[in-house]
Amino acid sequence: MPDNDPFPARWGRAVGPWRDVATDDWSDWRWQLKNLVRTPERVAELLGLPPEETAAVRGLQKQFRFAVSPYYFSLIDPSDPKDPIRRMIVPSSDEDVGEGLADPLGEKDDQVAPGLTHRYPDRVLFVVTSFCSSYCRFCIRKRNWKHSDAASTRDEIDQAIAYLRAHEEIRDVLVSGGDPLTLPLDQIDYILGHLRAIPHVEFVRMGSREPVMLPMRITDDLLRVLDKHGPIWLNTHFNHPREITEESARACERLHRSGVPLGNQTVLLAGVNDDVATMKTLLQGLLKIRVRPYYLYQTDPVVGAAHLRTSVWKGLEMIESLRGHTTGLAVPTYVVDAPGGGGKIPMMPNYLVSAAPGRVVLRNFEGAMFSYPDGGTPAASLDLPARSVSDLATGRSRRIVPRDNPHYARRDALAEERQLAELLTNAANTGK
Ligand SMILES: *Cc1c(COP(=O)(O)O)cnc(C)c1O
Ligand code: SF4
Repeated sequence: MPDNDPFPARWGRAVGPWRDVATDDWSDWRWQLKNLVRTPERVAELLGLPPEETAAVRGLQKQFRFAVSPYYFSLIDPSDPKDPIRRMIVPSSDEDVGEGLADPLGEKDDQVAPGLTHRYPDRVLFVVTSFCSSYCRFCIRKRNWKHSDAASTRDEIDQAIAYLRAHEEIRDVLVSGGDPLTLPLDQIDYILGHLRAIPHVEFVRMGSREPVMLPMRITDDLLRVLDKHGPIWLNTHFNHPREITEESARACERLHRSGVPLGNQTVLLAGVNDDVATMKTLLQGLLKIRVRPYYLYQTDPVVGAAHLRTSVWKGLEMIESLRGHTTGLAVPTYVVDAPGGGGKIPMMPNYLVSAAPGRVVLRNFEGAMFSYPDGGTPAASLDLPARSVSDLATGRSRRIVPRDNPHYARRDALAEERQLAELLTNAANTGK
């Protein structure tokens, strides 16, 4: 970074129970990793857990990895047992380990080389580590926390790269984990360098939650490596408006300044972001830090996460309440990943209401319905008041709008005014 970098690495002060930690330590991602919150006793102390809950944490720790960076932990409000950040990251007695699947997306079955899942025709998922700086309770790759199928040795990475080199149809490699940005810098450099050296790999994507959970990881030397191997797109993972802090905003800004465009994947989580107001605040907040919402994921039936799952209808309600109601850039694609390796399936409210030869009936976000002349030979429009959707399909009527909708009231008032003005002009002209 140049000396006059307007966005230097500056990560704020230690807070809460860490307030006595020196700012230099707090701002150092290695200090954060050395001081992870990872024992039931420490969580109990920080959150004032009752003994039963501490016992639940202790039991669950044997099942799934548990660690939280002090920075991310400091976002929890310890006085609120329902705190959304806590719900995402701290084990709780709500977790039922008897329910759910180990590999809900069936990634293992599409594995063609170590860490490499080749499911879609022209792109692959490349899982290069099973480590994260903090572990989400709803992670779909929990299976890797015990027996990792990530490419973790140099030899495994080389095998995966050999596959990619041999498969010219692959234009796009999505490097993920775990969190690839937890790897030592020379390994990140090695992986990206080898991927970019493959002529048919047009660009690399990375999936990382570090901007959210360990923003101090976005160091100058990391940015230099990412810049060197560009074009790199990075998808990060914000789930709640409270994760948008000065620190995470700065991490995103620094990535931007180094030529890394940012997208975001949000997981729809019960008790975290499953109400429209929270979701809207999150998505609009992301635009303010120039992060483009990409996917909204239905929480998959992964083991131990049943209490975080919502109905699919909740996701549809989200899209219904966003599309048209707010900036289109803020609206992600809602997807369900089909179990058994079916991949991502986009889910949308129905905007196509009906059809007849030459016409389709569409509805908008307000519930107004329109007769749209299709290509081909449209039926003549008679423009009479509609009695039913079929009047729109046949072209008898133009539209049906919700009663008392201010938008159409305004349009109609304006149209009337214009008509009146036209009449007056015509009358004046004829009078001449
Ligand atoms: C999500 C995913 C991708 C990338 O899909 P896009 O829709 O292009 O973002 C690639 N491979 C696998 C296995 C995935 O799950
Ligand atoms: S950061 Fe991503 S990979 Fe890591 S635990 Fe959370 S969801 Fe899983």
